[in-house]
Amino acid sequence: MRTRFDVLILGAGIVGSACAMECAEAGLQVGIVEPSVPGGAATAAGMGHLVVMDDSPAQLALSSYSRALWSDLSPSLPDRVEYERCGTIWVAADDEEMEEVRAKHRSYAAAGIVSEVLDSFQLAREEPNLRGGLAGGLLVQDDGVIYPPAAADFFLARARAKGAELLLGRAAVILRTGSVTLDDGSRLMAPQIVVATGTDLRLLPWLPIQGRKGHLLITDRYAGFVRHQLVELGYLKSAHKMTADSVAFNVQPRRTGQLLIGSSRQYGCDDAGVDASILSRMLERAQSYVPGLAGLSSIRVWTGFRAATPDKLPLIGPTEEDGVFLAVGFEGLGITNAPGAARLVADHLLGRPSAIDPAPYLPGRVRSLEPSHA
Ligand SMILES: Cc1cc2nc3c(=O)[nH]c(=O)nc-3n(C[C@H](O)[C@H](O)[C@H](O)COP(=O)(O)OP(=O)(O)OC[C@H]3O[C@@H](n4cnc5c(N)ncnc54)[C@H](O)[C@@H]3O)c2cc1C
Repeated sequence: MRTRFDVLILGAGIVGSACAMECAEAGLQVGIVEPSVPGGAATAAGMGHLVVMDDSPAQLALSSYSRALWSDLSPSLPDRVEYERCGTIWVAADDEEMEEVRAKHRSYAAAGIVSEVLDSFQLAREEPNLRGGLAGGLLVQDDGVIYPPAAADFFLARARAKGAELLLGRAAVILRTGSVTLDDGSRLMAPQIVVATGTDLRLLPWLPIQGRKGHLLITDRYAGFVRHQLVELGYLKSAHKMTADSVAFNVQPRRTGQLLIGSSRQYGCDDAGVDASILSRMLERAQSYVPGLAGLSSIRVWTGFRAATPDKLPLIGPTEEDGVFLAVGFEGLGITNAPGAARLVADHLLGRPSAIDPAPYLPGRVRSLEPSHA
């Protein structure tokens, strides 16, 4: 294995793998360091919903840019990535939430994102297994789903096809301008180093990022039971709570016919074990929207940790340490935002102009960010 590269990428989750692909395809000599299974950490725990989020202008810009890049990539994605343009329906329970649906529709339209307001009857026609009496929803046709670890693997394969080298089974333990020391004492050199280590920030412990635990459950196969990714509008409120535990109705149809059921958010919890009380709250919430879920068999439940920044935006770009770049802090949108983040990282490394304004994601803002407390 060579020891000198143009760029070293630390971490082969979906973000590091996408960065490796972008950099290798731009002609850089890339080294990737991964201590464990590529795509095996948060990437394997994630739901794989590719979703445009309008909770802030910067999130809207990055998620819509990234969703467009996923769409560009889609013809080349192998079957195992299970890309499906199933669309999202944001479900409104009552008239107040229908107001939010209309506001969301306007905000998407202003950003060029296609969506359609559904009334109660249209919602029931699209998703007959939803409970009766819901007010309507917003269908965002071009959102989709993927199987995230397979996508990370595909990005890595593309990077390696362009000469990138993957160093597996080693962690970076010391990070300096121009070099990285691995846990076997060996050193790798590169003028540019990208930290994409997800929630593991032992290399940069001063970063104000916290793990936010989530649970997911997958069912047996029930093809056609749900056809779109279904999310309650209240999800946005729950995703924004920075302190209390929360659950929200979020159900995804997989190509296999299985249903992925979420979602929960917990702060200040390092234990990766399944928490029976939050799991039952999450399932009760899901069943309150889709009562028939109660009769389906589940196969597996797991947890994962989202890397949350205090202002809910990722950290992408150069740090004060010369030649050290970040691609971390993606919370619940790292699968969606990986291609856009990787493109921004490559733009920084190569001094290219970016298709979206990179300023809102620059790590320099962390000085003004207070860590959030559980
Ligand atoms: C329950 C749940 C549901 C989610 N649902 C969605 C969703 O529907 N849509 C969406 O867009 N996002 C979703 N997410 C978020 C998404 O999964 C993450 O944002 C994304 O996977 C982060 O990818 P990553 O590459 O930054 O991190 P990771 O996948 O965690 O990868 C980091 C890698 O760095 C490696 N590493 C760690 N330390 C070192 C070191 N010292 N040296 C070298 N390598 C190191 C690790 O081994 C790991 O492989 C969800 C997350 C959770 C937990």
